[in-house]
Amino acid sequence: VDEFELIDRYFAARSVPREDVRLGIGDDAAIVCPAAGAELAIATDTIVEGTHFPSGTPARAVGHRCLAVNLSDLAAMGASPLWCTLALSLPRGAPEWVGEFADGFWALAAEHDVALVGGDTVRGPLSVTVTVHGRVAPHAAIRRDGAGVDQAIYVTGATGSAAAGLASLRDGRAAAGDELIDRFLYPAPRVREGCGLAAIATAMIDVSDGLHVDLERLLEASGVGALLDVESLPLDASVVERYGRERALDFALHGGDDYELCFTVPAAREAALRERAAGWACGIACIGRTRAGSGLAWREAGRARTAGACGFRHFDGGAG
Ligand code: ADP
Ligand code: MG
Repeated sequence: VDEFELIDRYFAARSVPREDVRLGIGDDAAIVCPAAGAELAIATDTIVEGTHFPSGTPARAVGHRCLAVNLSDLAAMGASPLWCTLALSLPRGAPEWVGEFADGFWALAAEHDVALVGGDTVRGPLSVTVTVHGRVAPHAAIRRDGAGVDQAIYVTGATGSAAAGLASLRDGRAAAGDELIDRFLYPAPRVREGCGLAAIATAMIDVSDGLHVDLERLLEASGVGALLDVESLPLDASVVERYGRERALDFALHGGDDYELCFTVPAAREAALRERAAGWACGIACIGRTRAGSGLAWREAGRARTAGACGFRHFDGGAG
């Protein structure tokens, strides 16, 4: 069997049926039936070996990641996932790799009830493109440009864990199966949380390149500035333990691959937010407030702290 037969076996045969998929994998195009009146949110992301994940990354983790990064984009719009397509570029001689890749892909697809409706398979350097379609109520999508002045800025979970996990992979401070390494290899897209922020958040972005730089994008799109408290940043205790507080802060501000959500909430909706977030295992933290002007300033113990604007560089320095 070659990879292409395996695609049939591992993808076409394992596709989870959904009622709104009239025709899935197998024809020239898929046919889907969007709910009447719903709006569709569409996102696509490519991950390339050597740029977005180190070569030698477990196939299962690549299968997870290619879908996770896309689900995170939908979550950041407050959209719930429906369907996706998968374009695979595979080097020669990778049949086992495909099976493990499929396991990672399907575990996450099943968790979020997303149907794979088509794709493409070619020979070439290892890279994976997923396109997802998600549903959002009319005019309910949460965009980057909706933040107003004097609104609270929140982040889900803790940032910096994935970057610390990647650092651990490279400096050998942890073995496979380590919790931080898993945070890098198997990011959990905040789908439920993002959808739950409809009518609460005024603007939202997912943190893929680093909290500082991604929040900067949200602020710029919204035409506001922000004042943030370093002390209120949610740090992962195991990152602090392994790398110390200063490095943990650096990971939290500039590390990438977190896939947490960063969003703004007006004072009148903060009670609703706390109620909504009470059941979220990841938790939320208020890290500062928007203000008139532009740019973001970090404050620590009442004093300004330069966060730098370096943002996240992919581990080889590539763009992405
Ligand atoms: P065509 O030449 O008509 O594009 P392909 O041989 O590329 O046909 O694909 C045949 C069917 O298999 C199509 O329905 C396509 O969507 C699906 N397909 C191909 N590769 C993948 C993949 N990696 N994942 C999911 N579906 C795929
Ligand atoms: Mg084709």
